[in-house]
Amino acid sequence: MSILSTLPFLVLLAAAGIILFRRIQFIRTAIFLGKPELRNDQKPVRWKLMGLIALGQQKMFKRIIPAFLHLLIYVAFVIINLEVLEFILDGLTGSHRFFAPFLGGFYSVAMNIFEFLAVATLFSCVAFLVRRNITKVPRLTMNELRGWPALDANLILFIEIVLMVAILTMNATDQLLAQRGVTGYILLDGLMFSTFLHPLFEGMGENALIMTERFAWWFHIIGILAFAIYVSYSKHLHIFLAFPNTWYSNLNPKGKMKHMDEVTKEVNLMLGLGESSTEEPAEVSRFGAKDVVDLSWTNLMNAFACTECGRCTAECPANITGKKLSPRKIMMDTRDRAEEVTKSLLSGGPGADDGKSLLGDYITKEEINACTTCNACVEACPVNIDPLSIILELRRYTSMEENSSPAQWNTMFQNIETSFSPWKFAPTDRFRWADELKKKP
Ligand code: SF4
Ligand code: SF4
Repeated sequence: MSILSTLPFLVLLAAAGIILFRRIQFIRTAIFLGKPELRNDQKPVRWKLMGLIALGQQKMFKRIIPAFLHLLIYVAFVIINLEVLEFILDGLTGSHRFFAPFLGGFYSVAMNIFEFLAVATLFSCVAFLVRRNITKVPRLTMNELRGWPALDANLILFIEIVLMVAILTMNATDQLLAQRGVTGYILLDGLMFSTFLHPLFEGMGENALIMTERFAWWFHIIGILAFAIYVSYSKHLHIFLAFPNTWYSNLNPKGKMKHMDEVTKEVNLMLGLGESSTEEPAEVSRFGAKDVVDLSWTNLMNAFACTECGRCTAECPANITGKKLSPRKIMMDTRDRAEEVTKSLLSGGPGADDGKSLLGDYITKEEINACTTCNACVEACPVNIDPLSIILELRRYTSMEENSSPAQWNTMFQNIETSFSPWKFAPTDRFRWADELKKKP
């Protein structure tokens, strides 16, 4: 490649880098709209979790076929990126197949591995398209996926297919040129898959072949850079965020609810369990969450890491029994609202003070009140997302700030407060009943 193509490549790379950097800044701002939360204890456990769940995809293997197809695409993504490194070095230095002289015979082996992964990715993407659009797996065709989410999922599969075809086309034409002895093209020790494409191009003249090979090269690298930018706008952000998301997992036992420290302290003092203090009780800005700024940053990172796979919704008893609740929609709504607030803030707007809120404008009380707090969604999520903690914070707001929980719940809360039991009688009554049972012959 001459300096004439090195320059546009440099401009292209710089432009993509700037766009990507700005988008990463945007996502970071959106995540840190959330309140601080310290989650860096038990570091060895966290590294292990990240290795098993994000890198090893452990939770995906509950369903073997999609897990296997997903694994193929994932491995291809990671390994083919090594080839992208060569593309970038070729682009910057004007060379062709930068690593070939250094790797000798292993270079052909590496290219064959890349080709195998490209074909495996092609196969997997076609299978995923069939699952979404022809066999219509229920969790992939629910109402909340209508519009952009469904288009996003199909688009990314289509883009991956096109990119893989570009690699195979480039290799096929490149090898035909090398066989004809054209300067700059290196003959490799047989490429297993692109060889099958040779009949398509064999009739072409040298110039046409060079143009096709260069077109495939540029198409692939532009496609990869565009893909990297596109991913940052799409649910496929999970490719990257799955790692921090699993590292910052909630390590408490499932079902352990998060206390509000200020409230716990006050209640303990009331019950004579804490040390009396002359300190004024701490001001609590808001009980629970009404909007994204009341949630924690880990809640918001969860929202950006969501793959929209719907495994949580497929396991949710409320959803299965026809209630309006879908934990996947909770995550999608949280992300959409966080994006809306961030866009407003960065353009000098009112941010979260725009008269809208997550609860009410995105998520309804009917949805959150349908949750049984069973944790099935948390258990099912392949990247350790916790939709329940968002639901609980929203519910805490409705009960503690608005007092708008369903009437039966308010009665139950009152009973717990006065009788330490959900029912309107003291625990001693219940034990009396048990004692009487014992007396019976
Ligand atoms: S915890 Fe709530 S949202 Fe999650 S599966 Fe159970 S009922 Fe559904
Ligand atoms: S929360 Fe987890 S299980 Fe649910 S859609 Fe998102 S990634 Fe899938």
